[in-house]
Amino acid sequence: MLSTSRSLHRLLYSSRVSPAAAADLDHELGSILGASIANNRHDAITGLLVCVQGCFVQALEGPAEKVQLAFGRISRDARHSDPTVIAAGPAEKRLFGEWNMCARVLAPSDAAILDVIDSKGEFEPEALTPTSALRLLTTVAGIQRETALQALTG
Ligand code: FAD
Repeated sequence: MLSTSRSLHRLLYSSRVSPAAAADLDHELGSILGASIANNRHDAITGLLVCVQGCFVQALEGPAEKVQLAFGRISRDARHSDPTVIAAGPAEKRLFGEWNMCARVLAPSDAAILDVIDSKGEFEPEALTPTSALRLLTTVAGIQRETALQALTG
């Protein structure tokens, strides 16, 4: 049961997809998701991973110690570089509670991205603030929920 807890933490970070991972992104994302779902389920971590214009933006939420341990492993992963924490701290409730991890690759033309970066230029992860990163991730979560609902209702 992934209940709200007083020790609930949320960590948001961005990173750059490595050239090797970018060359076979679908395969790498499948491998990342497989390990993530197994580990995160065990550790009561939920979250969302977004891939946009060669960058990752991820939310991890769960018990503080588990989130920090997971982020330590993730930071050492050669499939990306420059992991940069955008925000980390206590959270009142889970925003991505349906998913031990879910990944979505966004097209540059996606309205959700344009809304967050506020231009049609390059996506610059350094420009993300805690607010805009969370807005990007929760917007994508909404799209993900909508897609799942449409699949169910045909
Ligand atoms: P392992 O048995 O070490 O690996 C599981 C699978 O991943 C195997 O198929 C292995 O071959 C492959 N793999 C592992 N490391 C690499 C690597 N460096 N290069 C290529 N293939 C590799 N882990 C989580 O637990 N939770 C997360 O939310 C999470 N999010 C991630 C987000 C990103 C953007 C990236 C790049 C990685 C993420 N990971 C996450 C994976 C994490 O970096 C570790 O690879 C993983 O936690 C190791 O888990 P394991 O020891 O159980 O699996």
